[in-house]
Amino acid sequence: MATGRARCSSCGLALSGRGVVQFACPQCGAVTICRCARCRDQSVAYHCPNCSFAGP
Ligand SMILES: [Zn+2]
Ligand SMILES: [Zn+2]
Repeated sequence: MATGRARCSSCGLALSGRGVVQFACPQCGAVTICRCARCRDQSVAYHCPNCSFAGP
């Protein structure tokens, strides 16, 4: 995965750094899931590109 600007795992937008949450995939732990404040607020589902785990 490219270093530098992270992208929201839900909507794909570049993260601004405000209200952003990052956490390891709860299933495989190999991928860092990033969510922007908007997706977190709206509980938009994300999916792991490594194991296809999906969650709110
Ligand atoms: Zn988003
Ligand atoms: Zn995963």
